[in-house]
Amino acid sequence: MAFEEFVRKELGATTFATSLDDPKTQLFHLSRQSFEDLSAWTKDARNAAGEPVALLSGYVDVMRPNAFADRWQGHQIVAMNSSLFAAASEFALFCFTQPSFFPDIGDPSKETGPSPIDDRVPGIWLLDYTAGGGHVGDAHSDQVIPKDTDRYFAGLWLGQLMARFVWLHELAHAVNGHVNYAGRNGLSTRLYELPMDAIETSGPQPMPLDPETSKCLEFDADQSAFYGSLNIQKHDIENIESIAAFDRPTRTQLALFAAYAMIWLIEQFEGWYSANARDSHPEPSLRLQNLFRTLATTADELGAEIVTHNSMVIDAFDAVQAAIPKLYVARDLRARIQDAELMDALKAYDPRLDVLKAELKTDQFSARP
Ligand SMILES: [Zn+2]
Repeated sequence: MAFEEFVRKELGATTFATSLDDPKTQLFHLSRQSFEDLSAWTKDARNAAGEPVALLSGYVDVMRPNAFADRWQGHQIVAMNSSLFAAASEFALFCFTQPSFFPDIGDPSKETGPSPIDDRVPGIWLLDYTAGGGHVGDAHSDQVIPKDTDRYFAGLWLGQLMARFVWLHELAHAVNGHVNYAGRNGLSTRLYELPMDAIETSGPQPMPLDPETSKCLEFDADQSAFYGSLNIQKHDIENIESIAAFDRPTRTQLALFAAYAMIWLIEQFEGWYSANARDSHPEPSLRLQNLFRTLATTADELGAEIVTHNSMVIDAFDAVQAAIPKLYVARDLRARIQDAELMDALKAYDPRLDVLKAELKTDQFSARP
């Protein structure tokens, strides 16, 4: 109820209602429910001032893909536009129509490896089509969803992992103290993933964070989300049963692919918005580099096999890239990981991030015994 009130009063929008009993919205519902369960630890978490997280999460019924963290009436808010979930799901399903994408799942020989409709990126196509008043019918489904049942479901679960990466990223903005830090400095507490939005309220708005600080917080949120989503698999705490049913290597690889694919898809949304997010968000190449670096620096904790998984996931992009030429190419990704210039560009943010992390100590929430 409180989330609905926030969306109505602060965004002038409506929530996207979901239910496990409604075939049209049950996947949305599952995603948020899974996220809320994984975030149960926040119920006991406090910041230095003893303030609780009082997490509220939900979907906003808006056509433009976006997600954000905010605070409102003592609650930390984590929100996703329903269109972002829909687009990620469509993209994930499309991946499994390509027979050499995760070929050990289901019967890939049933897949025809179609091209995207109108050569538009899956996910973006859906947004354009529904914006034009179109309804997704069987012809659409036939072309861009997997034929094999196991691969169809695997596509749905990959979509869940992509959405989880977004939820965990927004949660990091809240619990790592980013939102309160912005508020403490008299700045706008609403941290969007994509710039501006049709749902932006009118009237004077508090200033956003300065670009360098904002980019550092994005790196920090990505690190937390990435590390968190991989640890869910490592520690076997996956709470979506059908994902948990995969062996650990497979679900780890799906989680890795989901994070990289989400970074890529957000870059495509930026193009769709014809907007420039660079003032507040790092170059997508640096966001990806940040994930690669996170993987390298946490490989000891995540287990040495993570490197092998990562290599397989990088190759998996080539299986889809044939159909989506703009997508990452394995060869380029490998070159990026070794790219000293790119790594230096990322490291240039480290001093500011170190200072910020010290400043965030009073804002961050942690569970206390
Ligand atoms: Zn963010």
